[in-house]
Amino acid sequence: MSIVTRFAPSPTGYLHLGHAYSAWMAWTRADIFRLRLEDIDTTRCRPEYADAILEDLRWLGLDWDGEVRVQSQHFPEYALALGSLQERGLLYPCFCTRAEIARAQSAPHGVEGVYPGTCRALSAEIRAARIASGAPYALRLNVAAARRCVGALRFFEENTGWVEAEPERLGDVVLARKDTPSSYHLCVVHDDALQGITHVIRGEDLREATHIHVLLQALLGLPTPLYAHHHLLTDASGKRLAKRDKAATLREMRAAGTKPEEILQQFEASA
Ligand code: GLU
Repeated sequence: MSIVTRFAPSPTGYLHLGHAYSAWMAWTRADIFRLRLEDIDTTRCRPEYADAILEDLRWLGLDWDGEVRVQSQHFPEYALALGSLQERGLLYPCFCTRAEIARAQSAPHGVEGVYPGTCRALSAEIRAARIASGAPYALRLNVAAARRCVGALRFFEENTGWVEAEPERLGDVVLARKDTPSSYHLCVVHDDALQGITHVIRGEDLREATHIHVLLQALLGLPTPLYAHHHLLTDASGKRLAKRDKAATLREMRAAGTKPEEILQQFEASA
Protein backbone atom coordinates (compact mmCIF):
# COMPACT_ATOMS: atom_id res chain seq x y z
CA MET A 1 0.00 0.00 0.00
CA SER A 2 1.33 3.46 -0.89
CA ILE A 3 1.84 5.86 1.97
CA VAL A 4 0.07 9.13 1.23
CA THR A 5 0.89 12.00 3.57
CA ARG A 6 0.26 15.73 3.50
CA PHE A 7 1.39 19.07 4.80
CA ALA A 8 -1.47 21.44 5.50
CA PRO A 9 -0.23 24.86 6.60
CA SER A 10 -2.42 27.90 7.22
CA PRO A 11 -0.97 30.89 5.36
CA THR A 12 -1.13 33.31 8.30
CA GLY A 13 2.62 33.98 8.31
CA TYR A 14 5.93 32.84 6.89
CA LEU A 15 7.02 29.24 7.33
CA HIS A 16 9.31 28.79 10.28
CA LEU A 17 11.57 25.93 11.14
CA GLY A 18 8.87 24.18 13.17
CA HIS A 19 6.46 24.07 10.23
CA ALA A 20 9.19 23.00 7.88
CA TYR A 21 10.07 20.15 10.25
CA SER A 22 6.46 19.01 10.17
CA ALA A 23 6.46 19.16 6.37
CA TRP A 24 9.70 17.21 6.24
CA MET A 25 8.40 14.55 8.67
CA ALA A 26 5.45 13.94 6.34
CA TRP A 27 7.50 14.25 3.13
CA THR A 28 10.22 11.87 4.22
CA ARG A 29 7.69 9.08 4.87
CA ALA A 30 5.63 9.59 1.73
CA ASP A 31 5.23 7.64 -1.48
CA ILE A 32 2.82 10.42 -2.39
CA PHE A 33 3.08 13.79 -0.67
CA ARG A 34 0.15 16.21 -0.89
CA LEU A 35 0.08 19.90 -0.15
CA ARG A 36 -2.95 21.76 1.12
CA LEU A 37 -3.38 25.41 2.08
CA GLU A 38 -5.79 25.69 4.99
CA ASP A 39 -6.85 29.26 4.29
CA ILE A 40 -10.51 29.15 5.32
CA ASP A 41 -10.02 31.96 7.83
CA THR A 42 -9.96 34.69 5.24
CA THR A 43 -9.57 37.33 7.98
CA ARG A 44 -6.11 35.99 8.94
CA CYS A 45 -4.76 34.26 5.82
CA ARG A 46 -2.99 36.21 3.06
CA PRO A 47 -2.17 35.22 -0.54
CA GLU A 48 1.39 36.50 -0.18
CA TYR A 49 2.01 34.07 2.66
CA ALA A 50 0.53 31.25 0.56
CA ASP A 51 2.94 32.05 -2.29
CA ALA A 52 5.83 32.30 0.15
CA ILE A 53 5.03 28.86 1.62
CA LEU A 54 5.22 27.22 -1.80
CA GLU A 55 8.44 29.03 -2.58
CA ASP A 56 10.05 28.10 0.75
CA LEU A 57 9.08 24.42 0.41
CA ARG A 58 10.57 24.33 -3.10
CA TRP A 59 13.75 25.97 -1.84
CA LEU A 60 14.02 23.30 0.83
CA GLY A 61 13.49 20.59 -1.79
CA LEU A 62 10.18 19.31 -0.38
CA ASP A 63 8.35 18.73 -3.64
CA TRP A 64 4.70 17.68 -3.63
CA ASP A 65 2.56 15.54 -5.91
CA GLY A 66 -0.39 16.85 -7.89
CA GLU A 67 -2.32 20.06 -7.42
CA VAL A 68 -2.19 22.15 -4.29
CA ARG A 69 -5.57 21.98 -2.57
CA VAL A 70 -6.63 25.51 -1.64
CA GLN A 71 -9.46 25.30 0.86
CA SER A 72 -10.89 28.78 0.26
CA GLN A 73 -11.84 27.64 -3.26
CA HIS A 74 -14.05 24.86 -1.95
CA PHE A 75 -16.49 26.37 0.55
CA PRO A 76 -19.56 24.77 -1.15
CA GLU A 77 -18.10 21.29 -0.56
CA TYR A 78 -17.66 21.95 3.15
CA ALA A 79 -21.14 23.46 3.30
CA LEU A 80 -22.55 20.15 2.04
CA ALA A 81 -20.79 18.22 4.80
CA LEU A 82 -21.99 20.76 7.36
CA GLY A 83 -25.53 20.50 5.99
CA SER A 84 -25.54 16.73 6.41
CA LEU A 85 -24.72 17.15 10.12
CA GLN A 86 -27.32 19.87 10.49
CA GLU A 87 -30.05 17.74 8.91
CA ARG A 88 -29.37 15.07 11.51
CA GLY A 89 -29.85 17.63 14.30
CA LEU A 90 -26.23 17.37 15.43
CA LEU A 91 -25.48 21.10 15.32
CA TYR A 92 -26.84 23.95 17.40
CA PRO A 93 -26.46 27.71 17.23
CA CYS A 94 -24.29 29.27 19.92
CA PHE A 95 -24.80 32.95 20.67
CA CYS A 96 -22.16 33.25 23.39
CA THR A 97 -19.51 35.92 23.06
CA ARG A 98 -15.86 35.05 23.69
CA ALA A 99 -16.03 36.95 26.98
CA GLU A 100 -19.07 34.95 28.16
CA ILE A 101 -17.35 31.69 27.32
CA ALA A 102 -14.15 32.73 29.12
CA ARG A 103 -16.20 33.66 32.24
CA ALA A 104 -18.01 30.30 32.26
CA GLN A 105 -14.75 28.41 31.78
CA SER A 106 -13.16 30.10 34.76
CA ALA A 107 -16.18 29.32 37.00
CA PRO A 108 -15.69 26.51 39.58
CA HIS A 109 -17.00 23.73 37.31
CA GLY A 110 -15.71 25.19 34.07
CA VAL A 111 -12.93 23.54 32.08
CA GLU A 112 -10.42 25.76 30.36
CA GLY A 113 -10.65 25.59 26.58
CA VAL A 114 -13.88 23.58 26.65
CA TYR A 115 -17.19 25.22 25.79
CA PRO A 116 -19.49 24.96 28.83
CA GLY A 117 -22.54 24.07 26.71
CA THR A 118 -24.58 27.17 27.62
CA CYS A 119 -26.53 27.35 24.33
CA ARG A 120 -27.05 23.59 23.94
CA ALA A 121 -30.15 23.66 26.10
CA LEU A 122 -31.91 26.63 24.46
CA SER A 123 -35.40 25.82 23.20
CA ALA A 124 -36.19 25.79 19.49
CA GLU A 125 -38.34 28.93 19.99
CA ILE A 126 -35.58 30.91 21.66
CA ARG A 127 -33.08 29.86 19.01
CA ALA A 128 -35.42 30.85 16.20
CA ALA A 129 -36.21 34.21 17.83
CA ARG A 130 -32.55 35.07 18.40
CA ILE A 131 -31.60 34.14 14.85
CA ALA A 132 -34.53 36.18 13.52
CA SER A 133 -33.35 39.17 15.60
CA GLY A 134 -30.06 39.08 13.71
CA ALA A 135 -27.92 37.97 16.68
CA PRO A 136 -24.58 36.56 15.44
CA TYR A 137 -24.01 32.89 16.16
CA ALA A 138 -21.64 30.00 15.56
CA LEU A 139 -22.71 26.42 14.85
CA ARG A 140 -21.42 23.91 17.38
CA LEU A 141 -21.34 20.13 17.22
CA ASN A 142 -23.42 18.46 19.93
CA VAL A 143 -20.75 15.93 20.80
CA ALA A 144 -22.92 13.82 23.12
CA ALA A 145 -25.63 13.48 20.45
CA ALA A 146 -23.00 12.76 17.80
CA ARG A 147 -21.52 10.08 20.00
CA ARG A 148 -24.90 8.37 20.32
CA CYS A 149 -25.03 8.12 16.50
CA VAL A 150 -21.69 6.40 16.12
CA GLY A 151 -20.81 4.69 19.42
CA ALA A 152 -17.26 3.89 20.52
CA LEU A 153 -14.45 4.98 18.25
CA ARG A 154 -10.72 4.49 18.16
CA PHE A 155 -7.74 5.43 16.04
CA PHE A 156 -4.28 4.00 15.54
CA GLU A 157 -1.49 6.26 16.67
CA GLU A 158 2.03 5.39 15.67
CA ASN A 159 4.29 4.62 18.65
CA THR A 160 1.25 4.37 20.94
CA GLY A 161 -1.14 1.84 19.40
CA TRP A 162 -4.93 1.91 19.45
CA VAL A 163 -6.38 4.92 21.25
CA GLU A 164 -10.01 5.23 22.35
CA ALA A 165 -11.39 8.46 20.93
CA GLU A 166 -12.66 10.84 23.61
CA PRO A 167 -14.08 13.73 21.59
CA GLU A 168 -15.80 15.18 24.67
CA ARG A 169 -12.35 16.27 25.83
CA LEU A 170 -12.65 19.17 23.41
CA GLY A 171 -16.31 19.85 24.12
CA ASP A 172 -18.87 21.03 21.57
CA VAL A 173 -16.45 22.46 19.00
CA VAL A 174 -17.41 25.21 16.57
CA LEU A 175 -17.95 23.90 13.02
CA ALA A 176 -18.96 27.18 11.39
CA ARG A 177 -19.02 30.91 12.06
CA LYS A 178 -20.31 33.87 10.15
CA ASP A 179 -16.86 34.97 8.93
CA THR A 180 -15.58 31.38 8.56
CA PRO A 181 -18.42 29.34 7.06
CA SER A 182 -16.74 26.06 7.97
CA SER A 183 -14.14 25.25 10.57
CA TYR A 184 -10.69 23.72 10.54
CA HIS A 185 -12.05 20.49 12.08
CA LEU A 186 -14.61 19.93 9.36
CA CYS A 187 -12.39 20.92 6.43
CA VAL A 188 -9.43 18.88 7.60
CA VAL A 189 -11.33 15.59 7.76
CA HIS A 190 -13.11 16.33 4.49
CA ASP A 191 -9.85 17.02 2.67
CA ASP A 192 -7.79 14.25 4.25
CA ALA A 193 -10.36 11.84 2.80
CA LEU A 194 -10.58 13.65 -0.53
CA GLN A 195 -6.80 13.67 -0.96
CA GLY A 196 -6.60 9.97 -0.04
CA ILE A 197 -4.33 10.58 2.95
CA THR A 198 -3.33 7.28 4.59
CA HIS A 199 -0.99 8.74 7.23
CA VAL A 200 -1.63 12.06 8.98
CA ILE A 201 1.75 13.11 10.31
CA ARG A 202 1.61 16.37 12.27
CA GLY A 203 2.75 18.04 15.45
CA GLU A 204 1.73 16.82 18.89
CA ASP A 205 -0.08 20.13 19.47
CA LEU A 206 -2.84 18.63 17.29
CA ARG A 207 -3.12 15.32 19.18
CA GLU A 208 -6.24 16.43 21.08
CA ALA A 209 -7.93 17.53 17.85
CA THR A 210 -7.56 13.99 16.50
CA HIS A 211 -10.27 12.87 18.95
CA ILE A 212 -12.78 15.20 17.29
CA HIS A 213 -11.54 14.35 13.80
CA VAL A 214 -12.22 10.66 14.34
CA LEU A 215 -15.78 11.47 15.44
CA LEU A 216 -16.37 13.66 12.38
CA GLN A 217 -15.00 10.96 10.08
CA ALA A 218 -17.46 8.45 11.52
CA LEU A 219 -20.37 10.90 11.17
CA LEU A 220 -19.50 11.78 7.58
CA GLY A 221 -18.71 8.22 6.48
CA LEU A 222 -15.03 9.04 5.85
CA PRO A 223 -12.10 6.68 6.48
CA THR A 224 -9.87 7.24 9.51
CA PRO A 225 -6.19 7.42 8.50
CA LEU A 226 -3.32 6.38 10.72
CA TYR A 227 -2.04 9.21 12.92
CA ALA A 228 1.48 10.12 13.99
CA HIS A 229 2.09 13.15 16.21
CA HIS A 230 5.70 14.29 16.26
CA HIS A 231 7.41 16.41 18.91
CA LEU A 232 7.65 20.13 18.24
CA LEU A 233 10.92 21.86 17.57
CA THR A 234 11.94 24.32 20.24
CA ASP A 235 14.40 27.20 20.41
CA ALA A 236 17.60 27.12 22.45
CA SER A 237 15.66 27.98 25.64
CA GLY A 238 13.21 25.11 25.09
CA LYS A 239 10.35 27.36 23.96
CA ARG A 240 8.16 26.19 21.09
CA LEU A 241 8.89 28.00 17.82
CA ALA A 242 6.10 30.33 16.76
CA LYS A 243 5.31 32.45 13.74
CA ARG A 244 6.31 35.57 15.67
CA ASP A 245 9.92 34.31 16.02
CA LYS A 246 11.11 36.06 12.93
CA ALA A 247 14.65 34.71 13.13
CA ALA A 248 13.40 31.15 12.70
CA THR A 249 11.51 31.74 9.44
CA LEU A 250 12.96 30.03 6.39
CA ARG A 251 13.05 33.43 4.64
CA GLU A 252 15.30 34.94 7.29
CA MET A 253 17.50 31.87 7.41
CA ARG A 254 17.87 31.88 3.65
CA ALA A 255 18.68 35.61 3.69
CA ALA A 256 21.31 34.94 6.36
CA GLY A 257 23.00 32.41 4.07
CA THR A 258 21.73 29.13 5.57
CA LYS A 259 21.71 26.28 3.02
CA PRO A 260 18.77 23.87 2.65
CA GLU A 261 21.11 20.92 3.34
CA GLU A 262 21.99 22.36 6.75
CA ILE A 263 18.32 22.59 7.68
CA LEU A 264 17.61 19.05 6.47
CA GLN A 265 20.59 17.77 8.45
CA GLN A 266 19.17 19.44 11.55
CA PHE A 267 15.83 17.71 10.89
CA GLU A 268 17.51 14.31 10.50
CA ALA A 269 19.24 14.87 13.81
CA SER A 270 15.97 15.88 15.56
CA ALA A 271 13.82 13.03 14.21
N1 GLU B 1 -3.57 24.00 9.27
C1 GLU B 1 -3.11 23.52 10.53
C2 GLU B 1 -2.00 24.40 11.04
O1 GLU B 1 -1.38 25.10 10.27
C3 GLU B 1 -2.56 22.10 10.48
C4 GLU B 1 -3.58 21.10 10.22
C5 GLU B 1 -3.18 19.64 10.33
O2 GLU B 1 -2.01 19.30 10.12
O3 GLU B 1 -4.06 18.86 10.59
O4 GLU B 1 -1.76 24.38 12.23
